[in-house]
Amino acid sequence: MIYYQCPKCQRIWQYPIDECPYCLVPMERKQGNNAKVVGSSKITISSLNHKKLPYWGIILEDDKGNKWPQKSMTEKNVGDEITYTANENAISIWRVKYDQLTAIEETNKLLNFLPNKEELKVLIVPQLDSPNYSYFRENTSPEFISAMIDFLIKNNVDADKIMVATQSFNDNPIEASAQKSGLLSACTKKGIMPFDLAQGSFVEHNGLEISKSAMDADLVINLPLLKGGDVMATKNLFKILKTNPDNKEEAAQKLNTLTNVITIAEAEYTQRPNKTIVFTGLVLGGKDTLRVDRVFSEIVFHKQLPELVKDIKIEEIETNGRQIEEVRYNIESY
Ligand SMILES: [Zn+2]
Repeated sequence: MIYYQCPKCQRIWQYPIDECPYCLVPMERKQGNNAKVVGSSKITISSLNHKKLPYWGIILEDDKGNKWPQKSMTEKNVGDEITYTANENAISIWRVKYDQLTAIEETNKLLNFLPNKEELKVLIVPQLDSPNYSYFRENTSPEFISAMIDFLIKNNVDADKIMVATQSFNDNPIEASAQKSGLLSACTKKGIMPFDLAQGSFVEHNGLEISKSAMDADLVINLPLLKGGDVMATKNLFKILKTNPDNKEEAAQKLNTLTNVITIAEAEYTQRPNKTIVFTGLVLGGKDTLRVDRVFSEIVFHKQLPELVKDIKIEEIETNGRQIEEVRYNIESY
């Protein structure tokens, strides 16, 4: 796991702090590897969010001595090593522990979504639907887009090759939404000026009119904020089209065949259908937006599946990273 160490007194924190409270010097961000099980308990009594039994409560320790707890649906014994392998075609599930950057880095290890190419051109498409402050969770959060830009820059993508763009399909002017949500300042702080896709040109592809900026990018990162009762990963990718499509299922399926698109979905704080906010602590990712939305529906126990994903069988979706059962949380029952 990622941890933060003071270079002077060597004290360690598992969550990000800027400077050591004892020595007042900047902390160093470090990576621990090879997580091993150092404690394991089989749980046979159910509780509200842990109805499926048995499961195991395990304590992991990495090679730097950092320890943390985790839920496992399969039996784990002391000494077992926990490893994950990349699978580009799976839907990734990762827990946000303390910072979004770490969650994005781990998601990249699971999906290998960042191409290894010189002068990589990246288009980030955040969700920007309404002129609301970020705590309403209507739009991608400033923290999440900042973390994504930091991740790209850390991986040698030039800031001037990173574009941030989307458009409005409703009556809210995109400029107002960008300003109030904090996304505009999050981008300009990194030296990136977001733009309106509606002002650019569109090209015909597979019966769809797709933004030229999206077609020209080496990588398009669909960056939705998942919401209870909805299919935000799918809906947000429609923003690279000239208009909001009438036949949403067909458009989604065609967009999911684009090979340069990846969805990295924010789900740290989730808006319930009644608009209140709940902590879900996740980042989901994958090439297929419908499958990302379907996995999210399963995790948050949607009573009724949203129309666009109701026919997708969860058993047919391959996931990677954490298992669905380990992170399930019923957002409607509290
Ligand atoms: Zn110190």
